[in-house]
Amino acid sequence: MFEKLKQNTHKRYNILTAEWVLVSPQRTQRPWLGQEEDATRTVRPYYNVSCYLCPGNVRANGEKNPDYTDTFVFENDFPALKNSWENFRLDNGLLKAETEKGICKVVCFSPDHSKSLADLSVTHVEKVISVWQQEYKTLGSREEINHVQIFENRGAVMGASNPHPHGQIWAQSSVPNEVVKEDKNQRKYFEGTGKSMLKDYVKQELQAKERVIFENEDFVSLVPFWAVWPYEAMIIPKQHQTKITEMSAAQKKNFAIAIKSLTMAYDNIFHVSFPYSSGIHQAPTNSADNRHWHWHMSFYPPLLRSATIKKYMVGYEMFGMPQRDITAEYAAVQIRNCLTNIIDR
Ligand SMILES: [Zn+2]
Repeated sequence: MFEKLKQNTHKRYNILTAEWVLVSPQRTQRPWLGQEEDATRTVRPYYNVSCYLCPGNVRANGEKNPDYTDTFVFENDFPALKNSWENFRLDNGLLKAETEKGICKVVCFSPDHSKSLADLSVTHVEKVISVWQQEYKTLGSREEINHVQIFENRGAVMGASNPHPHGQIWAQSSVPNEVVKEDKNQRKYFEGTGKSMLKDYVKQELQAKERVIFENEDFVSLVPFWAVWPYEAMIIPKQHQTKITEMSAAQKKNFAIAIKSLTMAYDNIFHVSFPYSSGIHQAPTNSADNRHWHWHMSFYPPLLRSATIKKYMVGYEMFGMPQRDITAEYAAVQIRNCLTNIIDR
């Protein structure tokens, strides 16, 4: 049965979103093109005088960044969400709208303008994770905040406005669309079986092995069976945890190792600083019973066959459903072959 997945066009089911992706594996017979194409890696200086995230520089609103040495968090100077709006609701026939309140923060991962998560030491990545935990906790404990989204846009192709290593946190009063889908499907599974859906999924993937990229005692990184983006990957804790604040110190280190190994492998695939959007899905910070949640970090990289050939979600995918040609299994082999040993620096 699984053999058919290698040859026949089929659709695969995403257990988290209850949506399908179209897979056309016969297209992987096409030759592997231009692996070394445009392999020039731009070397950036560790400090850029015009970067608004570098230590000591003045941002657009006139505030001066501190001379930070590890990480630095501040409220976005141009936030998409604000806490100060007056409440309103529009309910006019088929037209509905309501205020959305929230807080947008920027997290600088390092003072070094030239580094990415892949370049930082495991110890430093742990510090970034600590910031995520702290922000999730403090933002999530606010009365008006029901969801905290931690994410990173890396690379100009993903719309990152600045190459300085940084991520964002958007905390808001409602639970956003993607999270609502995952919430619903995890809840259904948990209510039906009393178990975490992703814990069972990880178990099945560890037996199959073919989509697993990396594992350590506490985490697995894998290309999900239902991946949409060519080199999409997920890092999932083996134990059932609803949110990132449940990690022990040892688990935090193993999470940092999983992040570093995946992002380093990404950079090796096409010999470029691999662009992606990554994000952590975890229990909303509302008052609901969220025991069904199993947190995870997803990476959506757009590159397809080389540093310059990008996948576009256009045409059929805009109007129909997502489609991919290289299979999840094929992508997992490619990423796995690019793993390097991590030496803690
Ligand atoms: Zn900078």
